Amino acid sequence: MKMPPFKLYTPISLDEALEIAKKLQLNDEEFDWVAGGTDLLPNYKWHLNTKKSVISLAKITELTELSNTHIGAMVRLQDLAESEVTHPVLAKSANSIASIMIRRSGTVGGNICLDTRCYWFNQTEDWRESIEWCHKCDCGTGADCRVIPNQNTLCVATYQADLAPVLMCMEAKVHLISTSGKREMLLNDFFELDGMTRNKLQPGELLTHISIPEEISEWAGDYQKLRQRESWDFPEAGVAVLWKKEENVLKKLRVATTGLESIPGYHEDLSSQLVEDWNGKESISTLSENIRKAVKPVQNTWYTPSYRRKMVKVLTKRACKGLLGE
Ligand SMILES: Cc1cc2nc3c(=O)[nH]c(=O)nc-3n(C[C@H](O)[C@H](O)[C@H](O)COP(=O)(O)OP(=O)(O)OC[C@H]3O[C@@H](n4cnc5c(N)ncnc54)[C@H](O)[C@@H]3O)c2cc1C
Ligand code: SF4
Repeated sequence: MKMPPFKLYTPISLDEALEIAKKLQLNDEEFDWVAGGTDLLPNYKWHLNTKKSVISLAKITELTELSNTHIGAMVRLQDLAESEVTHPVLAKSANSIASIMIRRSGTVGGNICLDTRCYWFNQTEDWRESIEWCHKCDCGTGADCRVIPNQNTLCVATYQADLAPVLMCMEAKVHLISTSGKREMLLNDFFELDGMTRNKLQPGELLTHISIPEEISEWAGDYQKLRQRESWDFPEAGVAVLWKKEENVLKKLRVATTGLESIPGYHEDLSSQLVEDWNGKESISTLSENIRKAVKPVQNTWYTPSYRRKMVKVLTKRACKGLLGE
């Protein structure tokens, strides 16, 4: 498939990148940021919502810092997975993303800001034309959503990235910058329940880094993922569970999910309410069942929604095994 032509900008500093973005915006020219390009460029080849201009973040070294509390947006996924400063659960989720080739190019910022996916959308242009398009890339036709028809206000494409649920359990913050200034927010507040808007980034704004509370090093946990092929597939469901124990007594518990809706889910109420009355295996069964009920997948990825919901229960139980010392 032929990549449509676009003008590529390669700034070497954040200031230069923001200056380019501002100029393009003043001229009413739409653009995309590109990091590793492992998602954006395949989408461009399939002519999915392409832009005439693309600003690469690849040469901005300010964005590559990595420590236990700071992850730059341009840190490569393989570096995150292999680093000794990375929390083991985050390293596990990073290591489960795609394949090693993709992880060597793909970045943390690109993973957090990943476009949502849907099998009516992630297809070639000819294929999409044959079904007369869909709302997310309607080519000016006003085509309907194929998953939830007769509404055309909401896209329910699925968020299928692996890092977010673990970082949500860590209560990580995202740090954003634009020519209007800097702002930060909990990753839990970053996502927007719409497969097209996806997140709170404003036009011309980018993610610079993620910060993680220092005390997270005292937490344990696990990340479990369902996918079609272990070698490289996107999560059909993913469950992160993090907990903190003091003198072997459970003090805090957090659960987050991915691959099931247009945004990752943070199930704070379901997990915190169990901590006080913790009763080992029984509590884990209750939690797993409650998470199954809480998620609402739709029919737009490989596996059926009912199978993905059933598997969420299994994945939650598996991710909680360490709580029982297993
Ligand atoms: C075969 C295959 C399998 C895959 N499997 C998985 C998987 O198992 N799990 C998974 O999580 N992902 C998977 N991916 C998706 C993808 O490779 C990764 O999520 C990767 O982390 C994306 O990072 P990138 O730097 O390449 O992003 P890019 O493709 O460069 O960008 C992705 C999106 O993020 C935006 N963006 C990038 N950086 C920033 C920033 N700093 N600020 C604001 N916006 C930004 C871009 O504009 C674009 O919209 C897979 C991809 C492929 C091709
Ligand atoms: S959820 Fe609907 S609008 Fe969104 S990509 Fe799928 S078919 Fe298109």
